[in-house]
Amino acid sequence: MNLILFGPPAAGKGTQAKRLVESRKMVQLSTGDMLRAAIASGSELGKRVEGVMQRGELVTDEIVIALIEERLPEAEAAGGAIFDGFPRTLAQAKALDEMLAKRGSRIDLVLRLKVDDEQLLNRVAGRFAESGRPDDNPESFKVRLSAYNDQTAPLLPYYQDQEKLVELDGMGSIEDVAAGIDQALKA
Ligand code: AMP
Repeated sequence: MNLILFGPPAAGKGTQAKRLVESRKMVQLSTGDMLRAAIASGSELGKRVEGVMQRGELVTDEIVIALIEERLPEAEAAGGAIFDGFPRTLAQAKALDEMLAKRGSRIDLVLRLKVDDEQLLNRVAGRFAESGRPDDNPESFKVRLSAYNDQTAPLLPYYQDQEKLVELDGMGSIEDVAAGIDQALKA
């Protein structure tokens, strides 16, 4: 099964993806984690994306599509992928559908975690000190939130038309959201 965890930055996608990795042995494919690893390794790619990420803007479709394509065989071998933070644009969503179709596979479900902006801003203000993520600073976070609203939220009708979209309340505790996800997966 291939699953997309969809939602704004700080909605809890990474936390819930890690839980699903534990419980269902799926592979988490987080483009944000891959890009941070590239920066940490000092690679050419890392140097190219560092400034863009720090400002909270999106890196190019070409870069993230290539990162995902590289990891698809591994996810397939494990029995499924949890896409976390990808796709973020319509071009990425279409490329993902094509890459999976070529492998005889597809996205089964898109789980949208709904959290209002005020709670997102509170969460990230709280985590900035501990996360050590330069893009959790208030200015960059605002840019990330607008990138979500302008470029990523328009994917919702795309998945709704494919009848894959399930909306979940992401405002509760980690356990409450996890329970909602488990229920959606059972259904
Ligand atoms: P995340 O950890 O998912 O919040 O991603 C952190 C940052 O990495 C984003 O603010 C973007 O700069 C970049 N990034 C991650 N995934 C993507 C993507 N699918 N498309 C474009 N940029 C991305």
